[in-house]
Amino acid sequence: MTDLPSRPRLLLRQLHQVMAGQGSAQERLDKLVGVIARNMVAEVCSVYLTRAGNILELFATEGLKAEAVHNTRLRVGEGLVGLIAQQAAPLKLSEASEHPRFAYRPETGEELYHSLLGVPIIRSGRVHGVLVVQNIARRRYADEEVEALQTVSMVLAELLGSGDLVEPSELQDDAAAALGAPVTLDGRVLSAGIAIGTAVLHEPRVQITRLLADDVEAERDRLSAGLDQLKQDFDAMIRAMDPGGGAHREILETYRMFAHDKGWQRRIEDAILSGLSAEAAVERVQQQNRSRLSQSEDPYLRQRIQDLDDISHRLIRILTGRQRTAAYDLLPEAAVLVARTLGPAELMDYDRDRLAGVILEDGAPTAHMSIVARAMGLPVLGNVEGALGHVEAGERVILDAGEGHAYLRPSDEVRETFQQALDTRRRRLAEYTAERDLPAVTRDGVPIDLLMNAGLLIDLPHLEETNAAGIGLFRTEFQFMVGSTLPRHTAQRDLYAKVLDTAGDRPVVFRTLDIGGDKPVPFLPRFEEENPVMGWRAIRIALDRPALLRHQVRALLAAGEGRVVRLMFPMVSDVAEFRAARAIVDKEVRRLEARGRPQPVRVEVGSMLEVPALAWQLPALLRETDFISIGTNDLLQFFYACDRSNGRLADRYDLLCPAVLNFLREIVHACDAVGVPVTVCGEMGGRPLEALALLGVGVRRLSVSAAAIGPIKRMIRSVDLGQVSTFLASLGDTSDHSLRPVLRAYAHDHDVALPTL
Ligand code: PEP
Ligand code: MG
Repeated sequence: MTDLPSRPRLLLRQLHQVMAGQGSAQERLDKLVGVIARNMVAEVCSVYLTRAGNILELFATEGLKAEAVHNTRLRVGEGLVGLIAQQAAPLKLSEASEHPRFAYRPETGEELYHSLLGVPIIRSGRVHGVLVVQNIARRRYADEEVEALQTVSMVLAELLGSGDLVEPSELQDDAAAALGAPVTLDGRVLSAGIAIGTAVLHEPRVQITRLLADDVEAERDRLSAGLDQLKQDFDAMIRAMDPGGGAHREILETYRMFAHDKGWQRRIEDAILSGLSAEAAVERVQQQNRSRLSQSEDPYLRQRIQDLDDISHRLIRILTGRQRTAAYDLLPEAAVLVARTLGPAELMDYDRDRLAGVILEDGAPTAHMSIVARAMGLPVLGNVEGALGHVEAGERVILDAGEGHAYLRPSDEVRETFQQALDTRRRRLAEYTAERDLPAVTRDGVPIDLLMNAGLLIDLPHLEETNAAGIGLFRTEFQFMVGSTLPRHTAQRDLYAKVLDTAGDRPVVFRTLDIGGDKPVPFLPRFEEENPVMGWRAIRIALDRPALLRHQVRALLAAGEGRVVRLMFPMVSDVAEFRAARAIVDKEVRRLEARGRPQPVRVEVGSMLEVPALAWQLPALLRETDFISIGTNDLLQFFYACDRSNGRLADRYDLLCPAVLNFLREIVHACDAVGVPVTVCGEMGGRPLEALALLGVGVRRLSVSAAAIGPIKRMIRSVDLGQVSTFLASLGDTSDHSLRPVLRAYAHDHDVALPTL
C-alpha cells in the first residue's frame, strides 16, 4: 500500500480546523488557500467562484497580488481558469503561458509563476468555481497531486454549499442562473396538460454531509457492503421486470455489469485511502468519470455519464441510508416529478395536491402509470431522453404535455407564454363543464352512452363535473396497489358503497382484481415469470386463489345492498374461466339468500374482452354473460404481439387500421345480434379520432377517462353516424397500414370536431 494518500488526509484535517476556528467567511477562505498552498508545496493557491452570468471571480488567493481579489474576473471559457470551468476537468501545465488559451492578467502578478494545476469545484454535478495552484518552477504535477487537489475541491464545494464560506447571496442572483442555461427537451405526451412548477427527483440525490473519515478499514467495509446491496438491488429489479422491458431492461443490465466492475471499486477504495468517507469517495470517482467522459469524442461514451451518475447516486443512497423516493419528503407546491421510470403504485404514493406533472425518461401511453395519471388529471411527458442529466432538484420546469416539450430553467418570456396557455386550458375545461348537460347524441340523432373510467376516490367528483352516464370501468385493483396489506372486507365494502352512493342512479361496473403483470400488489408473492403480462394475472389468480375473489365479491355484494351490482372479470381467455368465476359469484349470492341477508336487487356479471382468443368464442360466451367490455389496451397488445408499456414500440402499429377496425366491427355485430350490451373501455375510446372510428364500426357505448368526456362528447355531437359508418365500411379492405390520414381528412371535410384533450 502506498503512503501517498496520507498528505490529502492531513490537509483535509487542517481544512476542517480552519473551518472550526474564528473569523469572517472571507478570513476563513483566506486561511484555507494558505493551508492548501503550503500542503501542495505551491507558491500560489487561488479560489475562483462562479457569479451570476457565468463569471468566474477571484475570491481568495495566497501568492497572487491581494488587490486582484474580487477584481479579477473571467468568463467561463476565457483563459485557463475559464477553460477548466468550461470543461469541468482538471488541467496541469508546466508552462502555463505557452497554452493557447492563456490570458494574462497584469493585476494578479502571475507572470512570476510558470506551472499551473487547476481543478473544477463541482457540486451536484455543476461547476461552482475553480481551484488553482501555481509554482515558480517549471514542474510536472503528479497524478496523485491532481487527485489530492480534486479531493480538496470537493471539500470546498461542500463548504460552499453549506454557506459557511461565502454568503450564498454573494454568488448568484438566482439559483437558476447558476445552474445553467435554459434547455428544451422533447417527449411523448402520455397524459395531456400543462404544468408550471419545481423539479423534484423521484430518486433524490443525497447531499453528502460526512465527507471525511479516519478509519479506512471501516469505510472499505461500508463500501463493500454497499456494493453488495447495489448488486442485489439490480438483480431484484431485473427479476421483477417483464422481459419486454426493452430499453429500460438493457440499461439495468448495463448497470449491473458496472456494479461488478473491479476497476471502479478499486478507484473508490483509493479515494477512501485519501481520507474520504465511502460516500464521498464514490462522488469523487464519479466526478472524475464525468470529466473524463465529457471530453470524449465518442457520443456513446458521453451519453454514459448519465448512467454512471445514476449508479453512483444509487450507491450513495445506499451508503447514506436514504433510499426512499421523494414521495416521502415534503413536496414543494406544484412539484414536477422527474424519473427514469415510474410504476402506477409509485405514482400513487405521491401527494396529488402538490403534484403538477411528471417527466419520464421512458413510458408508454397505454401503460398503467399513464392511465392512473390521466385518471388523476396529471400531465405526463414520457420518452424524454436525458431528462435526469439535465435537471436539478429545485429548478423551475414547464411541462407542455400538449406539444410534447419540457422546458428546463425557462426564461421569463417562456413562463409568461405558458401561464397564458395554462389559463386558456382552464377556460377550455370550464367550457366543457358548461357543456355537461348537453346530451351525447350524434347529428343524426343516435344517442351514445358516454361513461367514465375510474379507480380512485379522487375520481369520483368527476362524475358530477362531467355528467358522465355512469362508470363503465372501475379498476378495483388501484385500492389494492397502494396498501401494503390486503384491504379488509370493511374497507373494500366502504369504498364500493361510496362509489355507488356517488353514482346514484347511474350504473357502475366494478372490475374484479386485475393484478399481476405491471400491477404488482405487495401482499401476493411475486413469482419470477418470463412474461408476466401474459402470465399469472387477473382472473387466473382469482381462479387459483378463489378466496381472494370471494372476499372481493362479498364486499361488492354488501356494498350493493338494495341496488344493482354490476361486476366483470378481467383477462378472460376462455369461456370456461368465465363460467368458473361466475359460479363463485352465484354461490355468494345464494349464500346471502340462504342466510336471509340483505341483497342487491340484481347482480349482472360481465366479461372483459381483452384476449383475442375470446373473440372466437363469442357465441358461447354471449350465452353466459350479461355484458361485454372491450379492453382495447390489452386486446390490441396481444393482437399485435406488441408490449403496451414499451415506449419504443408505441408508434409501431397504428390501431386505426383495417385489421383492428374490422376485428372490432365483428365483435360489436356479434354482441348486437344477440342483444348483449358492449362497451369499449380501453384508452382508444378516449381519443377523438379513434372514438370516431369506433362509432363508425358500430360502438355505441364508450367508457373513457374523465378528462376525455368533454372532448369526446363534442366529437359525438358533430358527427353524422350514418355517413361515417358508410365511409368506414368503404375502407374495410384497403391494405393501408394506417387509416389516420384519411379519417382526419374525412373529419376535416365533414366538420367533425376533434378537440385536443
Ligand atoms: C384494457 O386492457 O383495455 C383495460 C381497460 O384494462 P387495463 O388498461 O386496466 O388493463
Ligand atoms: Mg386490460
